[in-house]
Amino acid sequence: LVSRKKKPDDTIIDIKGAAIGNGGVQHVMGPCSVESYEQVAQVAQAVKRNGIKLLRGGAFKPRTSPYDFQGLGVEGLEILKKAADEHDLAVVSEIVNPEHVEKALDYVDVIQIGARNMQNFELLKAVGETNKPVLLKRGMSATISEFVNAAEYIMSRGNGDIILCERGIRTYEKATRNTLDISSVPILKQETHLPVMVDVTHSTGRRDLLLPAAKAAVAIGADGIMAEVHPDPAVALSDAAQQMDIPTFDNFMKQLDEFAPRPAVQ
Ligand code: PEP
Ligand code: MN
Repeated sequence: LVSRKKKPDDTIIDIKGAAIGNGGVQHVMGPCSVESYEQVAQVAQAVKRNGIKLLRGGAFKPRTSPYDFQGLGVEGLEILKKAADEHDLAVVSEIVNPEHVEKALDYVDVIQIGARNMQNFELLKAVGETNKPVLLKRGMSATISEFVNAAEYIMSRGNGDIILCERGIRTYEKATRNTLDISSVPILKQETHLPVMVDVTHSTGRRDLLLPAAKAAVAIGADGIMAEVHPDPAVALSDAAQQMDIPTFDNFMKQLDEFAPRPAVQ
């Protein structure tokens, strides 16, 4: 169902009036984790100022260590929704448990499926039964074919509003957190009709590489960029090393828009 052979035209996904796909470019920006209302509100204001519609933030955090911050849960979703509503933004947030999907529908405009859950088939089926757009991240060890099959799981349950997100894969290279598989973007766009985004934060894990990686992504045809923004990254409860502070984010957007202007508001 996700194959370009079945449907030659690009899928366009409308998220609260923001169109992604077929020339519609939408970025997803916000903190790694929701920590407080004040934190999210500052980022939401910057996101709005930069003409971005999609505000991200993790409420249910899939952390490598059980002793690390696990997220605020539903309280985090409430904070995100409040901050987003104040600026007419749409909420993107990760759900990790099929049982949380229904509750999340009250708060999120896009359900994110994280890299670690790309092959959580029960979760894929659960979001496939909703009518919310899904941002599906590539598993860090998933082939492109496995990634496409994960999208197929969602679409086979009736939900065709899927955004694919390349977020880097694990290789022997240690200079970056993951290896950004940039060629997956045109491959996914040739093989499927779905919009494709690139997460520059988790793929590179390096603040100095966010802008060059984002430029490469838009140049190769990505329909949007995901990156993390925090008012004070040094004290962030997760991903302190690679989130942008707000002035850095403003500059990032200015430079990215100069490199490749976003199409006028669709
Ligand atoms: C995230 O985007 O918050 C995240 C945890 O990323 P990933 O699932 O790609 O590791
Ligand atoms: Mn993160």
